[in-house]
Amino acid sequence: MIHSEDVRCPHCFGNNLQKNGKSCNSIQRRYCKSCKKYFQREYFYIAYHPGIKEKIIDMTLNGSGVRDIGRVLHINNNTVVSVLKKTLKTNPYFPSKIETGNLDEFEVDIRFEGEMK
Ligand SMILES: [Zn+2]
Repeated sequence: MIHSEDVRCPHCFGNNLQKNGKSCNSIQRRYCKSCKKYFQREYFYIAYHPGIKEKIIDMTLNGSGVRDIGRVLHINNNTVVSVLKKTLKTNPYFPSKIETGNLDEFEVDIRFEGEMK
């Protein structure tokens, strides 16, 4: 019995792929020869799943706090803060859309992180 699977690159949807070892969680990594990017079909950590970063940004723009987002998406609060800080650096339009009150909340969440457990 031959088992074949149609694996496509999530970036360019091409099938010119090469296996590229395994992650530390024994998940097959692949390399796309067309767009020269690496990817995995599944991820061990929820925060790495495609679309999670976009959800974090959307929820922030809709007024959700860092802890809200972490609770709803089942990811660590520090991951949420990290994604938002990276977005602030790379997207110059992002700071104008969120209020400075949210930025203060970043610092508060980092300080009280140990208390929550
Ligand atoms: Zn590709």
